[in-house]
Amino acid sequence: MLEINKNTKKTTLSSDEGDKERITLSQRDQKHLWHPLTQHKLSGEMLAIVKAKGSVLYDEDGKEYIDGIASWYTSMYGHCNPLITEKVAAQMQKLDQVVFSGFTHKPAVELSEALIKILPSNQQKLFFSDNGSTATEIGIKMALQYHHNLGNNRKVMLAFEEGFHGDTFGAMSVSGLSVYNGAFEEHFIKVVRIPVPNGKNTSGVLSILKNLIIENNIAGFIYEPLVQGAAGMKMHDAAGLNEILNVCKENKIICVADEVMTGFGKTGKHFASDYLETPPDIICLSKALTAGLLPMAITSCSQQVYDAFYADEIAKGLFHGHTYSANPLACVAALAGIELLNSEEIQQNIRRVIKSHQDYKTRLEKHPKVRNIRQLGVILAFELDVKMERYGEVRNQLFKHFMDSGVFLRPLGNTIYILAPFVISSTELEKIYESISAALEKF
Ligand SMILES: *Cc1c(COP(=O)(O)O)cnc(C)c1O
Repeated sequence: MLEINKNTKKTTLSSDEGDKERITLSQRDQKHLWHPLTQHKLSGEMLAIVKAKGSVLYDEDGKEYIDGIASWYTSMYGHCNPLITEKVAAQMQKLDQVVFSGFTHKPAVELSEALIKILPSNQQKLFFSDNGSTATEIGIKMALQYHHNLGNNRKVMLAFEEGFHGDTFGAMSVSGLSVYNGAFEEHFIKVVRIPVPNGKNTSGVLSILKNLIIENNIAGFIYEPLVQGAAGMKMHDAAGLNEILNVCKENKIICVADEVMTGFGKTGKHFASDYLETPPDIICLSKALTAGLLPMAITSCSQQVYDAFYADEIAKGLFHGHTYSANPLACVAALAGIELLNSEEIQQNIRRVIKSHQDYKTRLEKHPKVRNIRQLGVILAFELDVKMERYGEVRNQLFKHFMDSGVFLRPLGNTIYILAPFVISSTELEKIYESISAALEKF
């Protein structure tokens, strides 16, 4: 049954049946829904998507959009991939949900075995939650409680300037992008910050770090390895990051790699941490973990971290838990995702997209409006050379331009980036490039 919103002014009358009102999903949405990261007074209607297949989204008018950001880096193996949906459908008939305190199940056990095989070799234990913010929140809690359990007085977190780690309180605290956090800042945990290493500044960053270590009791260092997603796909230097990690390790600071965005093949290796010699103590995973099907997150850790919680005192345990921890359907989706990631077919696709981006990068490099073009794996990003005052306006114009041309890209300020599903066809990729090249001529 269609409920007609009497307050909706925009109700359309279909011309041939003038007496019958047609109301769209986008219009019905406005009555009761409050969307994330949205100032509703300034934003228009939300676009209603009714179907997704491979790299394509379909709206309620049947218009197609190539999903150039894999729906926030989740659907890397393509939307509604039957290799995944069929396994989840079968699991649904067998075991849908069970409490994960005191119980376990085959999908979780199998997922632990498959994931530990591909994670950096020091990772031994997996802790489940529901989203990227809870994954980092748990990583922070593990680092703080690790020192608490050992009797160390360490209560400060270290993070990069401009990092992004999520929207819950701990995650907000360590995030450097605080423009939206004004109402909450006085409730934050204590955080000190260092700049990212860019190849030239490493010795400077290391001396800032060493001073911070002397002046603060730092428990843990949380960082997005090599690519800072929300900051605008900013990339930094692996050798410099490795030196930072080494200083942290020497000072018994727990290193927490937030691989929520970089995990599962996007950087060209399974994890961004695979580019570094020094492995993290803790890794946060979500986004592509379940291949874009269901919300789930994992915080993994080394045996050393786990052992600090393993004690005769109950209170030394990690008393954190979510109702849907290790949901069997999400575990099966994740297992299917890892199987695909390890497949020759997906690895070939990753190599194809990397090569294609490299070629487009050479084409773009010469363009006078393109600044700071960079690529790691299937992530390609650059800045459009416009005045800072115009970032907001240009961002909205770019977004509209892309959507009108049937391409879903979501510029961050004046940064344009592509992070499409691995399975995107070369024709679809070319369509994204053409839309970007057209935008360069327009703005
Ligand atoms: C998206 C993101 C998060 C937050 O994940 P949510 O699932 O949106 O809560 C945390 N860290 C990084 C690096 C992210 O990209």
